[in-house]
Amino acid sequence: MQDYISKRTLQTVFYLFSPYNRVLSLFYPVYCMKYFIYRFAAGLCAASVLFFGSCRHRPEPVLVKFTGETQGTTYSITYYAADSVNLQKSIDSLLLRFDSTASSWKPNSIISRMNENDPSARADKMFGIIFNKAQEVSEKTGGAFDITVGPLVSAWGFGLSNRLKMDQHKVDSLLPLVGYTKVRLEKGKLLKADPRIRIDYNAIAQGYAVDVVAAFLDSMNIQSYLIDIGGEVLARRTKPGGEKWNVAIEIPAKNASDEPGIQAIVALEDMAISTSGSYRKYYEENGIRYSHTIDPSDGYPVKHSLLSVSVLAKDCMTADAYATALMVMGVDQGKEFLKKHRGLEAYFIYASPEGSMKTYYTRGFEKLMRHNK
Ligand code: ADP
Ligand code: MG
Repeated sequence: MQDYISKRTLQTVFYLFSPYNRVLSLFYPVYCMKYFIYRFAAGLCAASVLFFGSCRHRPEPVLVKFTGETQGTTYSITYYAADSVNLQKSIDSLLLRFDSTASSWKPNSIISRMNENDPSARADKMFGIIFNKAQEVSEKTGGAFDITVGPLVSAWGFGLSNRLKMDQHKVDSLLPLVGYTKVRLEKGKLLKADPRIRIDYNAIAQGYAVDVVAAFLDSMNIQSYLIDIGGEVLARRTKPGGEKWNVAIEIPAKNASDEPGIQAIVALEDMAISTSGSYRKYYEENGIRYSHTIDPSDGYPVKHSLLSVSVLAKDCMTADAYATALMVMGVDQGKEFLKKHRGLEAYFIYASPEGSMKTYYTRGFEKLMRHNK
């Protein structure tokens, strides 16, 4: 419709100012005047039809919300649509297809077959997108983020296989298999410096799954939505009244089973947020907590005061990867990194030496905050 209006306007301008019409108008002033009036009236009619048409009552957008399960966690999707179209079935099958590419929990997924050195395993588009983003973040974070931590993640008991008896000797034997420069993707094949190298997309896949669902909702012409997969969140536009989407950051719990409390709330529009925490996925042995985030530089689960990192980014995969990377860096190194990488906005919750909870956040993060404990 809008295209139609602008084309018509252009036509009318052409008619009035073209030299040919000016010559014509010298010889046929009456004819031209009549023709002009005719064109003008026709234009006016069309404009009024469009104007009154657009004033017709538009139905209120319908709120649709559903929850489900994926990647060993829950998801929640909320959107406003022209009608109550429920896209859950399509989203479920999209997420299943996603898992068949990127889930190391599925034995036949592309990533699992690559890890098993199946010679016929080839990357698809999603696999390649995740791989490239992972390598980019590894480079930018000096290797704090590294998908080749796979063998260490398994050995420390966070993979499919049973936890190994870990000591310095075991760690030393696995460290040579870790290093993002030891893998590359060439013509769809994962080339490894050592066949025992295994890659792990768990620190980034959930974020990318959010982006994949977002692209699907965009393709279905859903204008306004909030996607949450296991705490990785993306908010598109605002709610119909113009209100932004409020997303809460939880207070790090003392125990994994504790009910979440609210630490801060951010109001988001066209923005993703991802939180990595050391307080939900861990195990305790002899009074020591082992977190599922591994420091690729020494091969040990991270052990520092940082309890939770939330990162904002335009896409959820980027937010997810940096949240993990900052979790590896810890408070001091993380702060330094944020100072050098303006535009990366983050919120840290950490334990002070006296045991109280402290926070640190960047300016850009603060701007979106509606509540801060
Ligand atoms: P959460 O948001 O639940 O804290 P993350 O997004 O930080 O989770 O991902 C943690 C997972 O990523 C681990 O379970 C492990 O599989 C993998 N991982 C652990 N350490 C690293 C690392 N340094 N770089 C990339 N992936 C990692
Ligand atoms: Mg992550």
